[in-house]
Amino acid sequence: EARARVAAMSGPGRTRDGAPVGLLVNIGTVDDATRAATADSEGVGLFRTEFLYLGRQIAPTLDEQIATYTSVLEQFAGRKVVVRTLDSGSDKPLPFLDLGAEENPALGVRGLRVGTVYPDVLATQLEALGAAAATTGADLWVMAPMVATAEEAEGFAALARSAGIATVGAMIEIPSAALRARDLLEHLDFVSIGTNDLSQYTCAADRMAGSLAPLLDPWQPAVLDLIGLVGAAGAEAGTPVGVCGEAASDPALAPVLVGLGVTSLSMVAPSLGAVRASLAATDLGLCREMAVAARGARSPQAARSAVAALTSGAP
Ligand code: PEP
Ligand code: MG
Repeated sequence: EARARVAAMSGPGRTRDGAPVGLLVNIGTVDDATRAATADSEGVGLFRTEFLYLGRQIAPTLDEQIATYTSVLEQFAGRKVVVRTLDSGSDKPLPFLDLGAEENPALGVRGLRVGTVYPDVLATQLEALGAAAATTGADLWVMAPMVATAEEAEGFAALARSAGIATVGAMIEIPSAALRARDLLEHLDFVSIGTNDLSQYTCAADRMAGSLAPLLDPWQPAVLDLIGLVGAAGAEAGTPVGVCGEAASDPALAPVLVGLGVTSLSMVAPSLGAVRASLAATDLGLCREMAVAARGARSPQAARSAVAALTSGAP
């Protein structure tokens, strides 16, 4: 028992009864990668690549991107690194991408959609990623942001595979993608749920609007239902399902997510310890009971209470 408790404090994430749950870090710069490389994680679950493009008059060159991706992949040698392709749009304008004025930038040409207007930008990024993976021998996974349909997933997967990328996925952050996760998974090796945007689009509440915080709560039963659909589709297809939004760093929500079928959680490095400990205290069966209880609730507060009530008697 004592040895199990010590083991639970480090190494791969596990539930109390030993079901593996990947614990990964989110990074957004090369400096982040350097800091996060020493954290006790199984790798990177979300490498946001916007920093390469922001503040530029012209797009970063192929060689510059290869050098940057190589330096990150080298720091995580032997571990997995999930890179997200450029997620820009009219809310984060880039001088070299003219997307025109948009009334509703959050619903406009952003994420993967930019690749349809500027195919060279996406093609160059994928080529750089493929080249960096080939020289470092890293376990590179590449995913697209803001995928809405199975057709988009199929198109992205074809582009990425032709650039030599072996493991291709998509973020699930639009309700349509969650509802039809099974269709998307026919084309993908994994998915990762972006709960920040999924909450925004599920309750139609701007994620930057502080006054709408209750609608952006990932404990909203509607959001949990969508996550549950993705988890079930992943289990059916035998495909990993990650969560890389803020929700993954909530130690009370982590076992619920696992109960919904999520197989890895990616978060800022300081959150790893508390999430690891929470999972290590919870059997997989209880995670599933928690998921049922949370989805059965009528509000975020009721979901939290229902889950807490299941733990209160535990040792
Ligand atoms: C998300 O939407 O949950 C996510 C991880 O992506 P970002 O926060 O970069 O939009
Ligand atoms: Mg997002």
